[in-house]
Amino acid sequence: MREEDSGSLRSLRESNRERVVQALRVLGVASRAEVARWTGLSRSTVSSIVTELLAAGIVVDRADDGRSSSAGRPPALIALDPAAGIAVGVDFGKRHLAVAAADLSHRILAEEWVEIPEDYQAEEGIDQAADLVETVLADSEADSERVLGVGMGLPGPVHRSGVVGSSAILPGWAGMPWAERLAERLGLRVWLGNDANLGALAEGTWGAGRGTGAFVYLKLATGIGAGIVIDGKLFEGAGGTAGEIGHTTLDETGEICRCGGRGCLETYAAGAAIARMLSHSRGEDLDVDMVLSRAAAGDPACRRALLEAGRHIGVAVANLCNLVNPERIVVGGSMGYAGDLLLDPLRESVGLRAIPSAAEDVEIVPGELGERAELLGAVALVLHDAGPAWSGRAPAMQQAATAETKTSRARVRS
Ligand SMILES: [Zn+2]
Repeated sequence: MREEDSGSLRSLRESNRERVVQALRVLGVASRAEVARWTGLSRSTVSSIVTELLAAGIVVDRADDGRSSSAGRPPALIALDPAAGIAVGVDFGKRHLAVAAADLSHRILAEEWVEIPEDYQAEEGIDQAADLVETVLADSEADSERVLGVGMGLPGPVHRSGVVGSSAILPGWAGMPWAERLAERLGLRVWLGNDANLGALAEGTWGAGRGTGAFVYLKLATGIGAGIVIDGKLFEGAGGTAGEIGHTTLDETGEICRCGGRGCLETYAAGAAIARMLSHSRGEDLDVDMVLSRAAAGDPACRRALLEAGRHIGVAVANLCNLVNPERIVVGGSMGYAGDLLLDPLRESVGLRAIPSAAEDVEIVPGELGERAELLGAVALVLHDAGPAWSGRAPAMQQAATAETKTSRARVRS
C-alpha cells in the first residue's frame, strides 16, 4: 500500500499499536509470531511495534514459562507489564461465591471461594461479593489504583443492556441491573457475562480452547448452554444471548420447556431433567451430583441416563457443527465430569448427524478448568476488555478508552 499522507500513516501506526496491545491482553504471555497471527499484521510490523512498546515499558520480556519445545531455541516471550493493571473476577454460583484477581500477564494473584446458602437474595450476594473483592485485593497486595475493573459472572441469560434474564438457578435476580449495582458498590467498572460465555473465554485463555480460532464451550450442568468463539472472539449475537443451545428443538411435540418452547434439548438432557427422571423412577430425591457419583460407582440406570443424554446433546451439537464448523468443542460443567461415559455417545451422535466435513473437522474434548471456568472467565472479561461495562464512581483511569491508555496511565501513577 502506498501511503502519501503522513497523518494517516501515523494513525495507522497507532491503530496497529492498539491491536498489538489488545492481542497481548487476550494472549497474556506470547511470542511475537503469536501476536502476528492474532492481529493479522506482518511479523516485521509486530517486531517494530514491540520494540517501541518495550522501550516505553508498556511491554516486558518474559522468561520462558515452561512451554518451550524440546528441540531448538524457545521463542522469546513478551507480555504487558504485569504491574500495570489488575483484573478482578466474581462468580455467583448457586451455592458459592468466588473472587479472583490476575495481573496483565494472566497470572492469578489471589483467589477466594466461600459457600453461600442456596436461594440467597441478589442484594446479599452483591454485598458479600464486594467484601470478598476487598479481601482478594488485599491478599494479592494489589494497588487499588491499578484495578482495571471487575468481571461478574451469573448462571443465567444476560442481556447486553445489563439486565439479567430469568434463570432457573438464581430466580430472584431477573429484571434488575445488578452489574450497575456492583459497580456503584465498588466504585469500579463492571463487565457482565453469563456462565457459558465465561467458560468459553476462560478455556480459550487458559484451558482446552487455547490456540483455536473457532471453538465452542458447552456447559452441561443443571441447564445446558454454549459459548461460541469465532476468530478468537466471543460471538454474542445481537442482544448478547447467542449460544442458548439448550433450547434447540429436538421434538416439536415434546414436553413444554421452562423457556416456553416445546421439546427443547434441556427437557431431555439437562442435569435437572435427568435428576428428575431418575428421582421419579427411584422414588427418592436425586440431584445431578448424586446421579454422577452413582454412575461412577456402576449404577446401571444412572449410566444409561448419562449415555442417552450424551446422544441427545450430540444431535444439537451436530446442528451447531453444521452451522459454525468449529475446530473444537470443549465440554465443561458438572455433567462434564461423567467423562467418556457422556462424551463417547455425544461424539458418536455428532459423527452420525453432522455433515461429514464438519464432523471430521471437530474434536470433542473435556474442559481443563473444571469449576474454576466461570470465575476465570470473569477475570478474562476484564483482561480482554470484552464488550460494554458499567461504571461506578469512575476514577480517571477507568474512563480510558483503550487498553494501551489504561496501561500507560497506570504506569504514570506507579
Ligand atoms: Zn427451552
